[in-house]
Parts: sequence; C-alpha cells; structure tokens
Amino acid sequence: MSKKEQEDVKEYSFQAEMEQLMHLIVHSLYTHKEIFLRELISNASDAMQKLRFIELTEKDIEGVGEELKINIKLDEKKNQIIVEDNGIGMTEEELKQNLGTVAKSGTLNFLKELKAKENESKTDLIGQFGVGFYSVFMVANEVTVKSKSYQKNEKAMQWTSTGTGKYSIAPSDKNNRGTEIIIQLKKEEKEYTGEYTIKNIIQKYSSFVEFPIQVGEEHVNKSSALWRKKTSEIKTEDLNEFYKFISHDFNEPLGHIHLNAEGALTYSALLFIPEKTTIDVFQKPDEFHVHLYLKKVFIQNDCKELLPSYLRFLKGVVDSEDLPLNVSREVTQHSAVLAKIKKALTSRVIKLLEGWAEKEPEKFLKFYKGFGNIFKEGVESDYENKDKLVNLLRFKSSSLKDDAWTSFADYLGRMKAEQKKIYYLGGRNLESLRSSPALEYFSVRGIEVLLITDLIDEYLMPVIAKYNEMEIIHVEKAEVESSENKAEDTLDENDKKNFISRIKNILADKTEDIRESNRLVNSPCILVSSAGPMNPQMEQMMKMMNPDYKAPKKIMELNFNHPLIRKLVESHKKDAVSPELEKSVKTMFDALTLLEDKLENPNQLVENLFEYMNQSLA
Ligand code: ADP
Repeated sequence: MSKKEQEDVKEYSFQAEMEQLMHLIVHSLYTHKEIFLRELISNASDAMQKLRFIELTEKDIEGVGEELKINIKLDEKKNQIIVEDNGIGMTEEELKQNLGTVAKSGTLNFLKELKAKENESKTDLIGQFGVGFYSVFMVANEVTVKSKSYQKNEKAMQWTSTGTGKYSIAPSDKNNRGTEIIIQLKKEEKEYTGEYTIKNIIQKYSSFVEFPIQVGEEHVNKSSALWRKKTSEIKTEDLNEFYKFISHDFNEPLGHIHLNAEGALTYSALLFIPEKTTIDVFQKPDEFHVHLYLKKVFIQNDCKELLPSYLRFLKGVVDSEDLPLNVSREVTQHSAVLAKIKKALTSRVIKLLEGWAEKEPEKFLKFYKGFGNIFKEGVESDYENKDKLVNLLRFKSSSLKDDAWTSFADYLGRMKAEQKKIYYLGGRNLESLRSSPALEYFSVRGIEVLLITDLIDEYLMPVIAKYNEMEIIHVEKAEVESSENKAEDTLDENDKKNFISRIKNILADKTEDIRESNRLVNSPCILVSSAGPMNPQMEQMMKMMNPDYKAPKKIMELNFNHPLIRKLVESHKKDAVSPELEKSVKTMFDALTLLEDKLENPNQLVENLFEYMNQSLA
C-alpha cells in the first residue's frame, strides 16, 4: 500500500450493540455454521432484485443491462471464499450504515432474546435464526466487502473487519458494479473451500433463488421458484418435476393446490397430495412435509405450523413475505401470520377434496383409500371444518356392492320415510360383517346399515353422533320391534321362562342377561350390549393400559324360532340338569364370543366341535 493509500484508510468502531451481537454470534453459534452462505446469497439476491427495480425507471446507471448473477469462487490455497454479485452495490456511506450499525429492529430483538437466555442452551435458539451478514464471522477471520454502487458518480469502496471492535473503510480497486465479499476462513473451517460442500449448502438453502448461482463453471441452482408464477403459467410437467424434486417421490402427485395470496398477507403456496401413502405418515404423526420459505429463501424444513395434523401428508412449499427476517422455530410456533396461512390452506385443501368428491369420485376414492384414515382425524380435531369433513367421509354399506362406497348424504337419500336413524355395524372385515347375525333384523326389513372395518370409524361415529339431525347409532343399540312372524314359535311361555333362567344360571358369570330376541331371523342367538358395543381392538387397547380391565358383559338373546333353540328347550323340559345341555349352552356362548373376535381360549370350543362331529357321523 502506498502512503497515499494508507492515508485513505479510515478506522471506525462498531456500535456497542453491534459488538455484543457479533461476539454472541461468533461464540454461541456452533451449530449450523453453514447458514452464513444462505445469508450472503440472500443479501446478494436482494441487492439484485433492488437493481432490477431501479432499472425499470433509471437508464443512466453503472453496468446497465448486465446479466444478474451470483458468483462464488473457492480458493483452497488461500483458504478463501469470494461471494460476488452485480446488484445495487453500496456507497461509502451505505457500507458504514449497513455493516457498522444495528439498523434492524429484528436484530435488536434477537440480541435481547439471546440475553434473556443467558444461562440456557443457546444453540437451539440461535441455530435457527437468520443473523444476516454478521454470521459470516462464525467461519471467518477477516472479511473484506468490496462494493461499487449502481450510481455512476460513486467510487468503489471497501469495508474490512475481523469482527471484533473495529472496521475500516478504504477506496477499492473494484471496477464493476456490485458487491464482492472476500471471506478469509478460519483455519478450522477449511471445509468451506470444498466445491462439493458448497454446492450442497446452496442446494439445501438456496435452490430456488431466482438468480443464477455460479460455482466455478457450474450453475448450481437450476430449479425455479415455481410457486411464484401465475397458476395459468405453470405447466403440468413442471409441477410434476418440482413435486418429485421436493418429495423424493417417484410417482406423480394425485393433485395439488396453488395459491398466490396478496392483500392482508402476501404469500405463495404450492402443495401436493401424493398418489400413494407411505408407512411414515401413519407412524410419525409429528412429521410434516411443507417447507417454509421467506422470499424464495429456504427457512425451515417440515414446518409444523402450516397445516393441521390431519393434513400432514401434503408435501410442498409455502413462501411468505410477511415473516420477520430473523425467523426461528420459536417465532414460527407463535406466528399469527402462519396461523392465518394455515387456516387458508386448510380451506383450500378441503375445497379441492370436495371438488374431487363431486366431479371426480374415482380420484377422490383413491385419495380416500390412501389417506382417509389420517384425514378423518380432523373430524375430531378441527371443529371449524367438522361438517365439511363429515360430508367427505365414505363407508361400505349393506345395501351396496363390496367395492362401492357411500356418503352420509347418499345414505339419507336411500332411506325409507319411516326410518329415523342412521345405523352402522363395525367388524374385522366386510365378509364377516355381511354375514353377521346382528344384520339380520335390518336385512329382512330392507334397512340399510353402514359397514365399517376401520377402528377409527368406530371411534368417530359416536363423535359425529348426528348427521342432518339424524342420530347415528350402532345396530346393537337399535330399538327393535317385536317380530311380526312368530308363527313357528309354538313354545309354551312357561317353558321358555324356565329355560332362560337355567341358562342364566349356567352363564351367570359370563353374561349380563339372557332374553328372547326380536332381531334374529336365521341365527339361533346373538350377543348384544346395553352400553353399546366395543370394538375388539379398542378392548385390546384398554387391556394394554390397564391389565385388570374387564370388558363389560353382554346380553345373550335367543331366537325361539330357531330349531336349535327349540331342541334345547325341549331337552331342558325333559331333564333340567342335563350336563349335555350345559355343555351345549357353553359351546354356544363360546361360538358367539368367537364371532365377536373376542374368544381368548378357543380350546374348549374346538374340542367340543370335534366331539359333535364325531357324534353326528356315528
Ligand atoms: P439484512 O439483510 O437483514 O438487512 P444484513 O446484516 O445481512 O441484514 O445486511 C445489512 C444490510 O447491508 C442489508 O440490508 C443491505 O442493505 C446491505 N447489504 C448486505 N449485503 C449486500 C449486498 N451483497 N449488496 C448490497 N447491499 C448489501
């Protein structure tokens, strides 16, 4: 440096808060150091956006018409990184203002929050913050910012600092518009001169920055921020490609929503419904797949605040303009901005599904089969949208073929005028449901019953409770009218009574009551409950939580029109204490328990079955 040049170097002290801030950043931010590059690229991109704006109105500017891009040079020998842009650049005054003072209130708040957490682990908090330009001192010994403003009469200047106390300003040899940040890395941060490392960091955080980022000869960020385009300008191929890029899915998505909101809040969202579900979605209810961006710059992976849990299978991005720059996980958790976005997105997704349900039922069912069981959680958790979600529920039905589904609305449409309730029956699979004795009463009378095989549906039915003022009840809880056809029932009422009291005796510790049935047609007997049914899986769960748990006993109903029951009554009449009768009754009870999928020890039943076979063949 010549004497004249040395005279031109001016030393300045950082503002007091600035120094504190830098100290904290450098000494507390030991995780996520890589974000320094995101911050610098972000600043460069902002500077170029500003320039593009100025170019609209001013023609007499430095380097007019140049292609805007970011250039990153790596120098392993000198242990340096240079980040260069041709944005608006900075004048001497701007260098001092922008890089020497705490201008942003966000930065000050950051400082306050850090101080408040003095004795706690700061890494969690800080690691998630964007701390702007100064984060470069996490990895740098010394930083020189050479800059030449777009204003033609301004000289190129440079700002240099080691990040402690002072910085200097001096004339610079930079002869083109923009800013060049020369980062002298600390010895232990040598990895950042590696091309592979740097490219990875760029891909992770800055893939969608709209200006080209060049590392050596390579243009690293090839994806465009598709979500910012007008819906009409987005091609299906681009959507599919973008989806595959962010989701790592090989399949094309089933559908998507795209929003460009402007007004009270400005944001874009591009969310996809995958074609197929993955086991993860079920096993990890805390995992979300929507990434949060702030002005095209990546902020947070899998942000939990953008969708309700029951829509966690959606994948995509949300890009907000309204978040504070220093956004952290703690900030997103309490952000009113994100809460509003979440509400809007939820409505849009539901609207999309309603559209499918109405106009593309096959697509809707594809969705429903894949994600229905997650989506249904919303019926309980999203009070605001409950009615809409209930309308989207689909069930199998006793009146429809195996592969057909019905909504509550369609069920109501088929209902007879005199029917006052919606009935359902739950069980392990459709086949066993269709042949269940519990259905006989309804089949004979042509009353439709919804058949459900998902545990969550059995759980939800009582939560929904009513549809269109119509009560939804389990068939077991239905009040049944006495059977009109008692022609075959020629048994003496007294014999029946005696028989019932004998059975009560035999099954005293296993049943709540024994009574004559009005609901059976072809089956000899059935178990029903006064309290309403409990699904076997649910029972299993109760037992897991409490080993002493005992399921409530059930009521056994007998069909006196059935030959087997009639024979038993006759046999009882002849010999009231017959051990054969006792055995038959116990076997019958075991068989009913088996039908309910709740028989814990099937040995006795099987043994009896073999014996009866042997007798019948004799
Ligand atoms: P923030 O980006 O949050 O404003 P920074 O500390 O990162 O905070 O940067 C401070 C200011 O310095 C920026 O607001 C901008 O005016 C200026 N600046 C930083 N980098 C550049 C750049 N590459 N080109 C032009 N101006 C820049």
